[in-house]
Amino acid sequence: MRLPQEMDDPNKSVEEKELVYDFNCVSCNLNEKAHYKGTKPPFSRNIILKYPSYVMKDPFSPPGKGEVLMLGADCAICDKPVCISKECSIFYMKLFCINCAKQSLEKFPVEIQSKINSNKK
Ligand SMILES: [Zn+2]
Ligand SMILES: [Zn+2]
Repeated sequence: MRLPQEMDDPNKSVEEKELVYDFNCVSCNLNEKAHYKGTKPPFSRNIILKYPSYVMKDPFSPPGKGEVLMLGADCAICDKPVCISKECSIFYMKLFCINCAKQSLEKFPVEIQSKINSNKK
């Protein structure tokens, strides 16, 4: 028998559940389940990411090896999730979705600008 206050405790149930993020790229609509968002995935050893990213456990990696797949990150301007594919985002200090990068083109250095311009989307 469960005590009612145990069942009603919202913090407890959140902690017990494995948190899964619905990662949905704004640019290409890639949809994946991310197991972690941040810079230090708890299920991976020795991996520290340069910026907070959506990370999923590598389904093809043997257990305990701690391989991870980086899906993407929130765009530094519009804050929407974008995948790390070259067609969808550009990395310059932070990750930017290609739409924001194009709109703020003059803020990027010339070599980044040409990368953004070479994007076909
Ligand atoms: Zn994408
Ligand atoms: Zn953006």
